[in-house]
Amino acid sequence: MFKIITTVLVGGALLGKAVLNATTPEKMEARKNKAIGRAADTLKDHAVTCHCGGLAIPTEQRGKIRRCVRCNKQFASGGYNLGDTRTLNERKNYVPNNEKLDMQQYEDAVKSLKQEDKKSNAKK
Ligand SMILES: [Zn+2]
Repeated sequence: MFKIITTVLVGGALLGKAVLNATTPEKMEARKNKAIGRAADTLKDHAVTCHCGGLAIPTEQRGKIRRCVRCNKQFASGGYNLGDTRTLNERKNYVPNNEKLDMQQYEDAVKSLKQEDKKSNAKK
């Protein structure tokens, strides 16, 4: 009898731990940082160099306006489309969304790019 109770208790504790492990604040944070990193990389891929030497990144998913992370100047340059580029037919056929930039991470991605710029500029 004692053994059965012990087994149940240990089993319950392990199960509790497993459930906790699935969504620890650390894991949530890591997942969030990964998403921010992905957004920052996408913005970098579609950036141009500003007159000041800084990185001018897209200001939205689709358009041609970019803003410099160093001097904050905003200007028009080559068009970009970081949104959903599926055709109507592809959408009808449930082709997965190919959106490249998650706007939910935009502000944080810009913040991280600004920090990166400050660090790289300080080295010079
Ligand atoms: Zn600039």
